[in-house]
Amino acid sequence: MGSRPYGRRLVWGAAALLVAGAAVPAAASASRPGGAADVSALSAGHGAKKAKNVILLIGDGMGDSEITLARDYTVGAAGRLNMDAFPLTGAYTTYSVDRYGKPDYVTDSAASGTGWATGQKTVNGRISKSPGTDKPMTTILELAQRNGLATGSVTTAELTDATPAVLASHATDRSCQGPADMKACPADTIAKGGPGSIAEQSVNHKVDVLLGGGRARFDQKITEGPYRGMTVTEQARKLGYQVVTDGKSLQGARPGRPVLGLFAPGNVPVEWTGKPAAQGGTDPQRCVTGNPERAAGTPSLEAQTRKALQLLERKQKGSGDRKKGFFLQVEGASIDKRDHAADPCGQIGETASLDRAVKVARAYAAEHPDTLVVTTADHAHTSQIVPLEANPPGLSSTLITNEGQPLKVNYSTNTPGASQEHTGTQVRIAAQGPQAEHVLGVTDQTQLFTTIRTALSLR
Ligand SMILES: [Zn+2]
Repeated sequence: MGSRPYGRRLVWGAAALLVAGAAVPAAASASRPGGAADVSALSAGHGAKKAKNVILLIGDGMGDSEITLARDYTVGAAGRLNMDAFPLTGAYTTYSVDRYGKPDYVTDSAASGTGWATGQKTVNGRISKSPGTDKPMTTILELAQRNGLATGSVTTAELTDATPAVLASHATDRSCQGPADMKACPADTIAKGGPGSIAEQSVNHKVDVLLGGGRARFDQKITEGPYRGMTVTEQARKLGYQVVTDGKSLQGARPGRPVLGLFAPGNVPVEWTGKPAAQGGTDPQRCVTGNPERAAGTPSLEAQTRKALQLLERKQKGSGDRKKGFFLQVEGASIDKRDHAADPCGQIGETASLDRAVKVARAYAAEHPDTLVVTTADHAHTSQIVPLEANPPGLSSTLITNEGQPLKVNYSTNTPGASQEHTGTQVRIAAQGPQAEHVLGVTDQTQLFTTIRTALSLR
C-alpha cells in the first residue's frame, strides 16, 4: 500500500464535476453549477446503465475517525488507502428508530444493517423485521436470489452476527444466533411456527457462499422441526453445503454446491495486537502485526473475498443464469469490536484487512466493469485522534506510525472499563461502477438498498 501514488486528491465536488463532464453534455454541468443539480444530471446520464454484479464492503463501526487512523498509521497522513481511491464519495446518515418510528440517534449494527438490507429503519437489536409490529421485511439478498443472482456473505465476525444476519434471516433480536439462543425471540421459534435461529435461517436460505466465524453456533443442536437432533452444520450438509474450516479446505471448495466456511468457534481472531488504551495514556507503542490467538491457516478477509468472487462467478457460468451476476457482501466486523474494547492496534489492523479486501473487489471490477462496488460503514464509532498535548478523560494511547510520528488516540464515549460506544455521526459511502453516482451528496443508509436494487434491476 505504501507504494501507491499520493496524487489523487479529489474533493467530491470536483470528482462529481469530473464525472459530469464525461457523462453528460458539458452544457448541462455548466448550466447547473450546484451540487444537487449536478447529482441529478449525473443520475439521468447514467440511469440506463445496469450493473451485473454488486460487491458491498462494510466496515463495521468504520467512521471517518477509524479510516483516518488506519490511513495515518499504515500509509501516512498524505497516503491513500484502497478505499480512498473510489471516484465517487458521499456521506450517509445512520440513525435507527424507536418502536413508534421516532429517531433513535445512535444505531447498532442490527438496526443499521436492516436499514441498508431492507430499505426500512427498525429498532436497535432487530434483524430485518419491522420496528413496532415485528414483521419480516424483504432483504436485498432475498430479492437477488428471486431474480436468479448468486449470493454471498463474508465476515470476520460470527456468521450469525448482526451484519451478515440482516441479509439472510429475520429475528426479533440479534441475540437469537443459534438454536440454543432463542430466549429473546419467542415468536421466531420453529415450535411457534417461526423460521428458527439466525444460523438455521442462514443455511435454509441457501446462500451460495457463507464465510466467517461462529462455528460453535452452527454446532448447536436443533431441538424443533424437521432437523431436530441434528446440529446446524449437519443441517447445512443435508441441504447440500460443502463445509470448510480453514484456508486450505476453502481453496478446495468447488462451485456447484453452496459453501459454508466456519473459520473460528466465535469471531475470527483479529490480525494485529497491541496494548489497549489506558487512563492517562500508554507509552508510545508500535502495533504487533500478528496474533497468537489466530490459528495458522485462518484465511484472511482478502483471501475469502477472492475465493467468494471466484465461486459466485463460476456458479453463474455453470448454470442457465450465466447472464445474471451476483450480490456479495463483505464485512470487516472487528473494527467495531476492537473500538468497543479501546484497542487501537486491533482496530487499525482490521481496517487495513478490510482495505485489502477492497483492493480485491476493485481489481475484480477493473476486469468486470459491469460491477458496482460500494464501501461504507454501518455506523460511526468512538475513537478520536487528539493532539499529543491533550489530556483527555477516558482511555488513550500513543502510537508510533509507520512514518515514524506519534499519534494520540482517545476513547471517551463511556466510562473506562465499560464498552466504548457507537456514535451517531454520518459516515462515508464511496462507490464505483454502474449507478455509483447514487451515493453522492448526503443520503440515508436506507437508500443504499434502493441503489443496489435499481443498479441490479431487481424486481
Ligand atoms: Zn458495535
